[in-house]
Amino acid sequence: MGGGGSGTSNPSCTADCNPGDIPPPPPPAIPPAQVPAFQKVLCGAEKYGSFPKRYPTNFLNIFQFGKDLPNGGMTYAWSYASNVPPVGYHVTYATPINPNPMFPNAGSTLSASGVQPFNGSVTYIPPGTTAQTTQNRNYNAMEHAVMTAGHEFAHQSGVHSERTAEGFGVAAADAYKADHGAKCP
Ligand SMILES: [Zn+2]
Repeated sequence: MGGGGSGTSNPSCTADCNPGDIPPPPPPAIPPAQVPAFQKVLCGAEKYGSFPKRYPTNFLNIFQFGKDLPNGGMTYAWSYASNVPPVGYHVTYATPINPNPMFPNAGSTLSASGVQPFNGSVTYIPPGTTAQTTQNRNYNAMEHAVMTAGHEFAHQSGVHSERTAEGFGVAAADAYKADHGAKCP
Protein backbone atom coordinates (compact mmCIF):
# COMPACT_ATOMS: atom_id res chain seq x y z
CA MET A 1 0.00 0.00 0.00
CA GLY A 2 0.97 3.57 -0.37
CA GLY A 3 3.93 5.26 -1.91
CA GLY A 4 4.00 7.74 -4.71
CA GLY A 5 2.48 10.86 -3.34
CA SER A 6 1.05 11.83 -6.67
CA GLY A 7 -2.31 13.46 -6.53
CA THR A 8 -1.93 14.74 -3.00
CA SER A 9 -2.77 18.28 -2.05
CA ASN A 10 -0.66 18.08 1.10
CA PRO A 11 2.37 20.35 0.56
CA SER A 12 4.41 18.44 3.16
CA CYS A 13 3.72 15.13 1.46
CA THR A 14 6.90 13.37 0.51
CA ALA A 15 7.46 10.22 -1.49
CA ASP A 16 6.23 8.30 1.58
CA CYS A 17 2.78 9.83 1.44
CA ASN A 18 -0.23 7.99 0.17
CA PRO A 19 -2.17 9.84 -2.52
CA GLY A 20 -5.06 10.41 -0.15
CA ASP A 21 -2.83 12.17 2.38
CA ILE A 22 -3.12 9.14 4.63
CA PRO A 23 0.18 8.48 6.38
CA PRO A 24 1.84 5.23 5.35
CA PRO A 25 1.16 2.34 7.71
CA PRO A 26 3.85 1.75 10.32
CA PRO A 27 6.00 -1.33 9.94
CA PRO A 28 4.71 -4.44 11.70
CA ALA A 29 6.03 -5.06 15.21
CA ILE A 30 7.24 -8.54 14.25
CA PRO A 31 8.63 -9.31 10.79
CA PRO A 32 5.82 -11.19 9.02
CA ALA A 33 8.07 -14.20 8.37
CA GLN A 34 8.38 -14.69 12.16
CA VAL A 35 4.63 -14.62 12.85
CA PRO A 36 3.21 -18.13 13.39
CA ALA A 37 0.61 -19.18 10.82
CA PHE A 38 -2.61 -18.04 12.45
CA GLN A 39 -4.91 -20.85 11.30
CA LYS A 40 -2.41 -23.27 12.83
CA VAL A 41 -2.47 -21.30 16.08
CA LEU A 42 -6.26 -21.54 16.24
CA CYS A 43 -6.15 -25.23 15.38
CA GLY A 44 -3.56 -25.87 18.08
CA ALA A 45 -5.57 -24.12 20.77
CA GLU A 46 -8.75 -25.99 19.81
CA LYS A 47 -7.22 -29.45 19.31
CA TYR A 48 -4.87 -29.37 22.30
CA GLY A 49 -6.85 -27.11 24.59
CA SER A 50 -10.15 -27.49 26.41
CA PHE A 51 -12.30 -24.97 24.58
CA PRO A 52 -13.33 -24.14 21.02
CA LYS A 53 -13.14 -20.71 19.46
CA ARG A 54 -16.56 -19.19 20.17
CA TYR A 55 -16.02 -15.61 18.98
CA PRO A 56 -13.97 -13.80 16.36
CA THR A 57 -10.28 -14.19 17.12
CA ASN A 58 -7.66 -12.31 15.17
CA PHE A 59 -4.09 -11.07 15.27
CA LEU A 60 -2.75 -7.53 15.36
CA ASN A 61 0.96 -7.10 14.72
CA ILE A 62 1.47 -4.48 17.42
CA PHE A 63 3.03 -4.67 20.86
CA GLN A 64 0.32 -3.95 23.42
CA PHE A 65 0.56 -2.99 27.06
CA GLY A 66 -2.06 -2.83 29.76
CA LYS A 67 -2.46 -0.91 32.98
CA ASP A 68 -4.95 -2.05 35.58
CA LEU A 69 -7.44 0.59 36.66
CA PRO A 70 -8.86 0.92 40.19
CA ASN A 71 -12.33 0.07 38.89
CA GLY A 72 -11.12 -3.31 37.66
CA GLY A 73 -10.85 -2.20 34.06
CA MET A 74 -7.76 -1.83 31.91
CA THR A 75 -6.27 0.92 29.83
CA TYR A 76 -3.91 0.17 26.95
CA ALA A 77 -0.81 1.53 25.22
CA TRP A 78 0.78 0.37 21.95
CA SER A 79 4.11 0.29 20.19
CA TYR A 80 5.37 -0.91 16.85
CA ALA A 81 8.99 -0.54 17.89
CA SER A 82 9.46 -2.00 21.37
CA ASN A 83 8.05 -4.88 23.38
CA VAL A 84 9.14 -3.21 26.63
CA PRO A 85 6.15 -1.76 28.47
CA PRO A 86 6.03 1.89 29.55
CA VAL A 87 6.35 2.52 33.28
CA GLY A 88 3.21 1.38 35.07
CA TYR A 89 2.13 -0.95 32.26
CA HIS A 90 2.62 -4.66 31.71
CA VAL A 91 2.89 -6.65 28.50
CA THR A 92 -0.40 -8.03 27.23
CA TYR A 93 -0.57 -11.04 24.94
CA ALA A 94 -4.14 -10.46 23.82
CA THR A 95 -6.99 -8.04 24.34
CA PRO A 96 -10.74 -8.56 24.30
CA ILE A 97 -12.72 -7.25 21.36
CA ASN A 98 -15.51 -4.93 22.52
CA PRO A 99 -14.43 -5.20 26.15
CA ASN A 100 -17.42 -5.70 28.36
CA PRO A 101 -17.60 -6.20 32.10
CA MET A 102 -19.74 -9.24 31.43
CA PHE A 103 -17.91 -12.34 30.31
CA PRO A 104 -17.60 -14.15 27.97
CA ASN A 105 -15.48 -11.89 25.83
CA ALA A 106 -17.08 -10.96 22.55
CA GLY A 107 -13.84 -11.88 20.84
CA SER A 108 -10.09 -11.70 21.16
CA THR A 109 -7.21 -9.96 19.44
CA LEU A 110 -3.82 -11.58 19.91
CA SER A 111 -0.96 -9.09 19.85
CA ALA A 112 2.69 -9.37 18.89
CA SER A 113 4.05 -10.32 22.32
CA GLY A 114 1.52 -13.16 22.48
CA VAL A 115 3.00 -14.90 19.45
CA GLN A 116 6.71 -14.48 20.19
CA PRO A 117 8.97 -17.14 21.72
CA PHE A 118 8.59 -17.27 25.51
CA ASN A 119 11.12 -18.39 28.09
CA GLY A 120 10.29 -17.54 31.67
CA SER A 121 8.01 -18.14 34.60
CA VAL A 122 4.24 -18.45 34.34
CA THR A 123 1.80 -18.19 37.24
CA TYR A 124 -1.38 -20.15 36.71
CA ILE A 125 -4.01 -22.47 38.16
CA PRO A 126 -3.83 -25.87 36.43
CA PRO A 127 -7.16 -27.07 34.99
CA GLY A 128 -9.23 -28.98 37.51
CA THR A 129 -7.38 -27.63 40.52
CA THR A 130 -7.64 -24.58 42.74
CA ALA A 131 -3.98 -24.17 43.65
CA GLN A 132 -1.96 -21.46 41.99
CA THR A 133 1.52 -22.42 40.86
CA THR A 134 4.48 -20.64 39.27
CA GLN A 135 6.60 -22.67 36.87
CA ASN A 136 9.06 -22.07 34.06
CA ARG A 137 8.18 -22.70 30.45
CA ASN A 138 10.19 -22.49 27.26
CA TYR A 139 7.96 -22.13 24.21
CA ASN A 140 8.76 -21.38 20.62
CA ALA A 141 6.64 -18.79 18.84
CA MET A 142 3.93 -21.26 17.76
CA GLU A 143 3.70 -22.92 21.19
CA HIS A 144 3.41 -19.57 22.91
CA ALA A 145 0.75 -18.46 20.43
CA VAL A 146 -1.20 -21.64 21.23
CA MET A 147 -0.93 -20.77 24.92
CA THR A 148 -2.22 -17.28 24.25
CA ALA A 149 -5.12 -18.53 22.11
CA GLY A 150 -5.96 -21.27 24.60
CA HIS A 151 -6.13 -18.65 27.35
CA GLU A 152 -8.45 -16.50 25.23
CA PHE A 153 -10.68 -19.42 24.29
CA ALA A 154 -11.15 -20.13 28.00
CA HIS A 155 -12.32 -16.54 28.47
CA GLN A 156 -14.61 -16.87 25.46
CA SER A 157 -16.24 -19.88 27.14
CA GLY A 158 -16.82 -17.95 30.34
CA VAL A 159 -13.69 -18.61 32.40
CA HIS A 160 -13.42 -15.39 34.36
CA SER A 161 -10.20 -15.87 36.32
CA GLU A 162 -6.95 -14.78 34.68
CA ARG A 163 -4.95 -17.46 36.51
CA THR A 164 -7.41 -20.18 35.54
CA ALA A 165 -7.45 -19.03 31.91
CA GLU A 166 -3.66 -19.04 32.02
CA GLY A 167 -3.75 -22.63 33.28
CA PHE A 168 -5.84 -23.68 30.28
CA GLY A 169 -3.43 -21.84 27.98
CA VAL A 170 -0.38 -23.52 29.50
CA ALA A 171 -2.06 -26.94 29.29
CA ALA A 172 -2.85 -26.40 25.61
CA ALA A 173 0.70 -25.29 24.84
CA ASP A 174 2.26 -28.16 26.81
CA ALA A 175 0.10 -30.70 24.95
CA TYR A 176 0.84 -29.07 21.60
CA LYS A 177 4.57 -29.11 22.34
CA ALA A 178 4.57 -32.73 23.52
CA ASP A 179 2.82 -33.84 20.31
CA HIS A 180 4.79 -31.45 18.09
CA GLY A 181 1.45 -30.09 16.92
CA ALA A 182 0.79 -33.27 14.88
CA LYS A 183 -2.98 -32.67 14.88
CA CYS A 184 -2.48 -29.36 13.07
CA PRO A 185 -0.36 -30.09 9.99
ZN1 LIG B 1 -6.92 -13.19 30.21
